[in-house]
Order: sequence, then structure tokens, then C-alpha cells
Amino acid sequence: MEELILAADIGGTFIRVAIADSQGHILEKASTPVPKAPDAKAVPMKVLELCDALSAKHGGRRLISKVSIAAIGPLDIKKGAIIRPANMPYDVVPIADVLCNYFDATFILLNDCNAAAIAEKRIGAGKNVDDVVYITMSSGIGGGVILDGRLLLGKDGNAAEIGHTVVDMSMGMICGCGKKGHWEAYCGGNSMPKFAKFLVESKYDNVNSTLARKLKEGIHTVSAKDIFDYARAGDEFALTFIDTVAEINGVGVANVVDVFDPSVISIGGSVALNNVDLVVEKLKPFVERYAINRVPDIVPTPLGHDAPLIGAILAAMDPPPKSVFKAL
Ligand SMILES: [Zn+2]
Repeated sequence: MEELILAADIGGTFIRVAIADSQGHILEKASTPVPKAPDAKAVPMKVLELCDALSAKHGGRRLISKVSIAAIGPLDIKKGAIIRPANMPYDVVPIADVLCNYFDATFILLNDCNAAAIAEKRIGAGKNVDDVVYITMSSGIGGGVILDGRLLLGKDGNAAEIGHTVVDMSMGMICGCGKKGHWEAYCGGNSMPKFAKFLVESKYDNVNSTLARKLKEGIHTVSAKDIFDYARAGDEFALTFIDTVAEINGVGVANVVDVFDPSVISIGGSVALNNVDLVVEKLKPFVERYAINRVPDIVPTPLGHDAPLIGAILAAMDPPPKSVFKAL
């Protein structure tokens, strides 16, 4: 039987796992919510559990020669671990330490957005250009950059952690990482309800809005999806909030345009992909307003929610050198 690739996308909300053949064709795939267990090892163990279920009818775990993980950051690629992720309740998530015990395989670890950028360059929105940036707008915000045809990784594998760049110094929203003013603290799906509540209480106290009333009662009953639903239903504050988020997203994307000068920016992640009209389309005029560089094509990813997973498979077949944690 032929060798197999195990690819996983460990996000802030979901873990997606695929088994592919050595040519990169997906044979099986599945997803599951990120476990909420107190021990961070539950995360890699969930990948193993899905791997065993999906690979069973293709010969099982023993045929896997490459394990390629795309994970939320920040990473320590030398340790093969996620370090203090903003969107998971763990200090360290030991990916390689756990999974290497179960496989006789080459082990590759990449930031999820870096993996998605590889997918965009090879088969997605960036296949005809040398300079492409992938941005996820999901539970958090992240980026992956291919410039002059080369993936930027950086000393720890965390180049382009754009969600933790500062976009505001006056409102002082605190990010999931603990620091102030980060893009993700305003526009990440996990942070939106908190930011919306802050705006209701500081600026829009008298607005006629069901969403505003719910936020004043507490943020735990309001999700980012609820905010978009209220906006679509015409809620006055929800619409104002969506416009505010669009401007901040525009600032963030304009910074990316001015720092990297890409030909294409491909946007993925559930917040963006489920609301292309209210997120991707609405941020574009603000990029024009704030960027000085020539504004590139800004498109929703043609690869959908699987962009990081597809990137992990492609990275397994042709790994960026610094992403290889352990060679077979
Ligand atoms: Zn942050």
C-alpha cells in the first residue's frame, strides 16, 4: 500500500484533519471542535483520534510517512509547540512532543496562515503572481506572506502575526494575548462582542437597538454571528458596529499593503467567508483610504475553509526547510 500524508489544521474553534495520498489527493477528511479539556495534550490527541478513524480503511497509521500540522500561533517551531495562543486556554500546546511518539514520519509544523498562503500560491488566488498575502478573519486574525515567491517564516515561525499589530491607541481594547490595541481585539470573532459592548457603553448609550440592550445585559449571550445576524435584520447599532469593524479591518489590511506590497490579498476564515458582503467588501474602501501603496486585488479565498488544510498537505509534499520539525 502507498504512503499517506496526515494533515491537520488546528484552529481556535475547529480542528480539521485530512488523510491524503502521496500526490496530495484528499482521501478522507473530518472536523471537530477544539477540545476544552484542562490538559493541552487533548489537542494533539484529538488529531491522533481523527487520524486513526480516517486512515483505518486506507491501511492505518503505520502508512503515514508525513505529518503536516497547520496551527494557530504563536508557534515555537524549534519546540514544535503552540505558545500562549490568544484563542485557546493553554500556556503551551505540545504538538510535536505528543504526535512524534505515534508516527515514524517526517513532521512539519507551520502557522495556519502560512500554510494557507502556500495553498493560495500553488492553487488559489495567488497562483499567477509572486507576491500573495493570506489573511484569516476568524476567531482571531492572522496572516501568511509569500513575497518574491518565498514564504516568510521568521526566527520562530511567526512572521506576519498581523492580528497582533496595533491599530488603535485610544480605546485600549485588550487582546486575547493580553496586550492592548491589537487588530484582533476589535475584529476577531472572539473579541467582537466585547468591543461591541464597549462601544455601546462608551458612545452609543441611547441607540435604539435590541443588540445594544442584549450587550448591556452581558456579552456571554452574544456571539460574532449574532452581531452579523442583527445587522442583516437591520438593527441600528449592529449596522454601525459592522461599519466600525470594516474601518478597523481596512486599517489592518492597508498596513499589510504598505508593509508587504502584495499583488493579491486572499481573505479566509469563518467571519469573512460567512459574511463576504459585510466584511470583505466593506473593508475595501478603507484600504483605499489608508494605504499609500497601490492597492492589490482583495478577494475571498477560492479555497474556502480548507485553505490551511490544503496548505498543510502541499507543505508535506514540498516542505519549506524551516518548517520541518523532524525528518524521517
Ligand atoms: Zn494580541
